[in-house]
Amino acid sequence: MIKQRICIVGDGLSGLMTAVVLAKVPGIEVNLIAKKGSKNVDKRTTAISDTNFKFVNQNIASLGQKLFWPSKKIELFYETSKDSINFLNLNDVNSNLMYVFENDKVKSVLLKEITRNKIKLIRKDLKNLDKLKKYDLIILCIGGQSKIYDNITKTRSIKKDYKEIAITGYVKHNYKTLNTSQFFLKEGPLAILPFSKNYFSFVWSVKRSFFVNNSKKITALVKNKIVESLKNKEDITISNIQSYPISLHLRRQYHQKNVLILGEGLHTIHPVAGQGFNLVLRDIKKLKEIIKYYTSLGISLENSYMLYDFYKSRKPENTIMSLGVDATHSFFKQNKYLDPLKEILVKNIKNNEKLKKFSKIISNRGLSL
Ligand SMILES: Cc1cc2nc3c(=O)[nH]c(=O)nc-3n(C[C@H](O)[C@H](O)[C@H](O)COP(=O)(O)OP(=O)(O)OC[C@H]3O[C@@H](n4cnc5c(N)ncnc54)[C@H](O)[C@@H]3O)c2cc1C
Repeated sequence: MIKQRICIVGDGLSGLMTAVVLAKVPGIEVNLIAKKGSKNVDKRTTAISDTNFKFVNQNIASLGQKLFWPSKKIELFYETSKDSINFLNLNDVNSNLMYVFENDKVKSVLLKEITRNKIKLIRKDLKNLDKLKKYDLIILCIGGQSKIYDNITKTRSIKKDYKEIAITGYVKHNYKTLNTSQFFLKEGPLAILPFSKNYFSFVWSVKRSFFVNNSKKITALVKNKIVESLKNKEDITISNIQSYPISLHLRRQYHQKNVLILGEGLHTIHPVAGQGFNLVLRDIKKLKEIIKYYTSLGISLENSYMLYDFYKSRKPENTIMSLGVDATHSFFKQNKYLDPLKEILVKNIKNNEKLKKFSKIISNRGLSL
């Protein structure tokens, strides 16, 4: 079998995961191009579904189970003018609903796996694709914004600036029990994600103006909001506060010749439902299957319909799920005219068993039912 060469650019979660997964396909040689060590350590956590956790574990045994904190229950609350309604609880006695991991820890294990698998790591800030002609396939995992994309696709894409900032951070606590929860607050959604016995992370999406006006007292503000939402007065310590602008960006075109865009560059979505990387993992899973199929038949990746097959099989789910997340965000956004109606709808969700079952299946497996 002739070796086919794949170049992956970018060492975020998407690039590292893609490199390690594809390097396992027989007949494939992977090179990874990544910028020289960045000072900005990613102090976020990521929640992935049970199905995606299994995919990661099957492909990268070295990640082990210890880096992933399981969650059997997810609670959702809606803040009204008077109180907070616990409108939906998802739980499963037989399996875990999701797993939370610390981004920097998983990235560092993946980097070790790159070395262990003898994947060539080229440290450079790629400016254009001119020097990558020797590769059969180039996969760009270079984040949401890059000028390089302009040379690949000029077709229109779905874009929206939410004018919001996601504030993230870690919280040390001594609570006896704590479930994964999402609070739809007046200022914006607040997610609580336990990732070890005494730590949870939070993601609080707020209006950009709110963030700017309160930037000097943001730690105190977050602390108050968390204590108030969890209704637990025990002391907590907040660390690693970071902020991320939020937008929606869905590309209509996924590839040009033998260059594929993957990860945040393909679909950037609101973090409210924690679905961004879940979609990326499903993309990687499908890409691996397709590449394996083509290479097993001895078909060149460079001149084949392989990327078109990938585009056709992944675009429907990526679009529907991303727009679904956007609709969820819009529904819960504060609106003084619609809020009384929302309160009635939200109260009715609690007793709807079919909706609970449906939500669980979709967040676990996406649309691959
Ligand atoms: C606040 C927040 C919370 C989130 N929570 C969740 C969650 O709970 N669950 C979930 O599924 N998803 C979540 N997501 C989404 C998830 O974080 C991303 O999908 C995931 O990190 C993948 O990012 P990426 O690797 O595609 O891009 P990035 O992390 O942006 O990585 C891009 C990489 O490319 C490199 N690069 C860029 N340009 C070049 C170049 N020219 N040459 C070489 N290298 C280059 C950069 O240095 C960087 O390392 C969240 C997102 C946000 C903002």
